[in-house]
Amino acid sequence: MSADIRTTLGLRPVINVSGTMTSLGASIVVPEAIAAMAAILPHFVEINALQRQASAVIARMTGGEAGFITASCSAGVSLAVAGTITGPDLLAIERLPETNTEKNEVLLQMGHVVSYGAPVDQAIRIAGGKVVMIGQATSTHRYHMENAITERTAAAVYVVSHHVVDYGLLNLKEFVEIAHARGVPVIVDAASEYDLKIFLAQGADIALYSGHKFLGGPTSGIVAGRKDLVRNAFLQNMGIGRGMKVGKESIYGAMAALEAWETRDHAGIRARETGALVLWKETLDGRPGVTALIEPDPTDNPLDRMRVIIDPQEAHITAWDLAAALRSGDQPIIVRDHEVEHRYFYLDPCNLHPGQEHIVATRLAEELDKARASNAMIATPIEDLSRHRFDGMLRWPD
Ligand SMILES: *Cc1c(COP(=O)(O)O)cnc(C)c1O
Repeated sequence: MSADIRTTLGLRPVINVSGTMTSLGASIVVPEAIAAMAAILPHFVEINALQRQASAVIARMTGGEAGFITASCSAGVSLAVAGTITGPDLLAIERLPETNTEKNEVLLQMGHVVSYGAPVDQAIRIAGGKVVMIGQATSTHRYHMENAITERTAAAVYVVSHHVVDYGLLNLKEFVEIAHARGVPVIVDAASEYDLKIFLAQGADIALYSGHKFLGGPTSGIVAGRKDLVRNAFLQNMGIGRGMKVGKESIYGAMAALEAWETRDHAGIRARETGALVLWKETLDGRPGVTALIEPDPTDNPLDRMRVIIDPQEAHITAWDLAAALRSGDQPIIVRDHEVEHRYFYLDPCNLHPGQEHIVATRLAEELDKARASNAMIATPIEDLSRHRFDGMLRWPD
């Protein structure tokens, strides 16, 4: 890679070991998707016919009856929920987010009310849904859900994510069983999941994925599932979906990414990721105050990450100051630090270009050596992190 477009643009050449993050440009788009987007951009197409082609690809890949491409998984949540409220009523679709029906309640387990960069419950509310939270943060029992279902229930949303509480809640099979016993459709937000079939196979009526996460497609969302519900979601493009629209390039790019997923060398990619993890472990093992553990993905994706635990007394630096040090510098390295107050961060190998694992190893060693050689402990109060978290955003574009 000689000319890096980021240099031309005055952007920092970040190395992403944090995972698939919207704030970093999601993922490395696969060559098949880039070629597809370039091929279709100069042409006029009948968009709904292209979406019909996408439906066939999505159906084949997910086992659902139909599907379409939208702007994002978050858009998919809104459109799918909207479809369960309006049905195919075109006037009701135009009226959203106002509803003229009582049947607009959407069940969500309290332990699933997460933020993926925006609150999941907001994606439901902008579709006219009234969120009914069931259970408590760390517990949902069958009776919570059974008693929450009434004639006003339009849908039930289930979130699959490392962000959700991972114990004490209803699993998808139970959730589906309870919902279906009362005729309530289940919408699964599976944005980051590798398995394109399992949630529909477990009874979900709609499963939603991000096109730009593990699939390596353009920024997009994939809606898959029961034909009538998918159609009712698709019809929202004449309503709230307009602001979530995708162009021909994203539809065709996402189709290409889906098809490339089928033929991707999954074992080869896994082996490369394992190579990076082993290199980092060798780099970190034996360093004072540093523990490096290779851990499986919490939602069972075929992906391991490295947990780097820092004891500041021994390492002379806190986990968050180490993350900040790696983030500064000529080749900024962005680690996965959303649990950093627990004195660890993760290194995620799934978005690396070949060779970047060595830069990550070198920078880790440099910063740890530097801290260890200094007598003063680098320890910014953790409260400063939360206090200043949104400073940059609130100053944007300055
Ligand atoms: C990333 C993510 C989203 C958002 O996906 P977008 O396609 O970026 O809108 C929604 N839900 C979960 C569980 C996610 O991980």
